[in-house]
Amino acid sequence: MGDRSAQEIWEAALGELQIQVNKPNYRTWLEKTIGLSYQDNQFVIGVPNTFAAEYLDQNLRSLIEKTLVGLTHCDAEVLFQVDTHHQDTSHSYGSREGIPLATQASPPRFNPKYTFDSFVAGDSNHLAYTAAQGVAENPGHSHNPLFIYGEVGLGKTHLLHAIGHVALASHMQVLYVSAEQFTHEFINAIQQRKTEEFRNKYRSVDILLIDDIHFISGKEHTEESFFHTFNELHNANRQIAITSNHPPKSIPLLDERLRSRFEWGLIAGIQSPDFETRLAILRAKAEEKGVAVTQDVLEFITHRSQHNIRELEGCLNRVIAYAKLVRALLTPEIAAKALEDIADKEPKNALITPSLIIEAVANSFQLTPPDLRSRKRDKETALARQVAMYLIKQETNYSLAQIGKELGDRDHSTVTHAYGKIAGDIDASPSLKRKILDIQQNISPR
Ligand code: ADP
Ligand code: MG
Repeated sequence: MGDRSAQEIWEAALGELQIQVNKPNYRTWLEKTIGLSYQDNQFVIGVPNTFAAEYLDQNLRSLIEKTLVGLTHCDAEVLFQVDTHHQDTSHSYGSREGIPLATQASPPRFNPKYTFDSFVAGDSNHLAYTAAQGVAENPGHSHNPLFIYGEVGLGKTHLLHAIGHVALASHMQVLYVSAEQFTHEFINAIQQRKTEEFRNKYRSVDILLIDDIHFISGKEHTEESFFHTFNELHNANRQIAITSNHPPKSIPLLDERLRSRFEWGLIAGIQSPDFETRLAILRAKAEEKGVAVTQDVLEFITHRSQHNIRELEGCLNRVIAYAKLVRALLTPEIAAKALEDIADKEPKNALITPSLIIEAVANSFQLTPPDLRSRKRDKETALARQVAMYLIKQETNYSLAQIGKELGDRDHSTVTHAYGKIAGDIDASPSLKRKILDIQQNISPR
């Protein structure tokens, strides 16, 4: 096979690896690699430096080979080759990670894709989005600190970078650092007796963006150091923006003094986006890649991936790469095929729809689907409706809000209640359990 297909196969493999490898590892080791050639069962992957070659060889070789075998259905021996040409043209953010303190004087590079314009706002992230914009436009005077929290892959880093872009454009001194990097630098500074330099670096900025602060909790000396940095910056009206997986009050082991300071400004949570927002994000990502993806394919992918935007994007990449690889049109069927192998991560059967479940439940209770969607509240109908909610939640990736919609426009709290109730009742009642198992057997995708 020629070189063109090596790159295509590798892109498909990356789509998959992006889902399997955690984010920092993916960014550091895989993001900047390319497929160079594929001949005689040898697959050559171009990497930016020997460091990466060694790391990949020792740690990710077998996963990569397995992934390639899955895609090519042939045995493949992987070779990592330093590709300097590629390194020159790569300008991905992330190359700064792990680089010693002294070489980091140049201004930070923010991921060009992480801007306010490319961020899709919806109910789940609106406060964080507008607050981040406020901070970028009026640093030190709007909310200080801005504390954004939310689960992984929901856009926290994206917002910090977006602030960074605006700050750079208005010629401010801005520093972006993950709490992990802050910790390493602090430890290095102590070992190399460069604490003065470390201090100056952090205390001379207009805006400090610190990502994943929960990393420092429980690390007393680092917390102490960050506490002083925080105070100096805050006293001087310099802006601080922080992200974390939890709100300050729920970060275990966090120093009390830091916790109270984090609560001085604005705390904005990001929730998992609803279906419409996920769809809008996915559409934006497809446009960003310059690939025309039809609405039905976007919807299919959106249904497959419920919470995490990174995973959603990984699925999109995989579908695009797969369609290219097999030279097929991007249809929902091709998307289903492309995502089939990651079914073990997402055990839900994409062919099982709420309508099928509602039908099976109605049959079992000798009711009709319109009964379940109606306002009827007699005991039997109410129970059947709750069972339907429970099973849709179990068997599909529909969100609580969507499930409520499917069952006569009920709100998500009704679904939550039904789910909890049935889950409890199943344990208490063998006959209900039996009934539900029977229904499950009778849900047959067409
Ligand atoms: P986190 O830092 O919260 O783990 P990231 O900021 O790394 O998440 O986001 C993961 C991916 O999802 C990124 O590619 C980001 O651009 C994308 N993303 C998340 N939320 C949005 C959004 N609302 N609009 C556009 N892209 C988003
Ligand atoms: Mg992040």
